[in-house]
Amino acid sequence: MKKKVVAGNWKMNTTPAEAKELTDKINELLKGVSGLRPRVIIAPPFTHIKMLADITDPRDISVAAQNCSSYKKGAYTGEVSAEMIAATGAKYIIIGHSERRAYFKEDNATLATKVNITLEYSLLPIYCCGETLEERESGKLFDIVKQQVSEGLFHLTPDAFSKVIIAYEPVWAIGTGKTATTDQASEMHAYIRKLVEEKYGASAAKDVIILYGGSVNAANARQLFSTPHIDGGLVGGASLKADEFFEIIKAGIA
Ligand code: PEP
Repeated sequence: MKKKVVAGNWKMNTTPAEAKELTDKINELLKGVSGLRPRVIIAPPFTHIKMLADITDPRDISVAAQNCSSYKKGAYTGEVSAEMIAATGAKYIIIGHSERRAYFKEDNATLATKVNITLEYSLLPIYCCGETLEERESGKLFDIVKQQVSEGLFHLTPDAFSKVIIAYEPVWAIGTGKTATTDQASEMHAYIRKLVEEKYGASAAKDVIILYGGSVNAANARQLFSTPHIDGGLVGGASLKADEFFEIIKAGIA
C-alpha cells in the first residue's frame, strides 16, 4: 500500500521562534503514533529551513523549500539556489505553487528549469498545478492542467519523473475555505494519472504521488484522503496550527 504524504506549506508566515515552536509541537505529537504513518513534510520560509532541518529527523518530518531560483548561481540578487537549499538538509522543493505562478509570473518553461535544478541537487520536486475558477467555469480545466503538467514535467526521463510529487491545487480552493468536492478532486487526479500513464506507462501512473491541496483541514482530510487517486494533501493555512496539522496527519494513517 502506498504511504500517504502530508505536506504543510507555511507560506510567508512564522518568525524563527514561532517556526521552532510549531515544529517542536508537531514532533511531540508525532511521538507514539502507530500505524502506517504518512510522510510528513513542512515547508517553512527559506530563513528557517536549516534550523528546522537540524531539529527534525526525516523519518518523522522532512523539510521543504517553497521555491528556488531558476538559476544555479551568480549575480541574481535576492535569489536562493537549489544548491543552497540542498546544503541546509532540506529534502524537497515546492515548484510552481499558484501564488508563484500568479504573483511572480512563473511560467511552465521556467518551472521546468526549476524542476531540473531541483533534481540535479538530489532534492525532490513537489510540482503544483491547478486551474482558476474562470478556467474551470469555461471548461478549460483539463487543458490547463495538462499543459502545466506536460510542459513542466514531461521532458523528464522516467527515472527522473519517478522522483516527482504532483500537487493538484485548484486555485479557487486555495486559502478560500472552498474545498473541491471529492468527485471534482478525484476526477482531476484520475486525469493526471492518465496523462502520466500515456507518457510513462502504467507502473509510473500507479506509483506517482498526487496530492490534493485547497483548504484541506481537520474536518475534511479523512474524506479527501480516502478518495480514489488522492495520495495525501498539500496544506496551507491549517498547517500553521500544530493540533490541526496533526489531525490531518492522522487522517493519512493507514
Ligand atoms: C496551499 O497554499 O498550497 C494551500 C493549499 O493553502 P490552503 O490549504 O490554505 O488552501
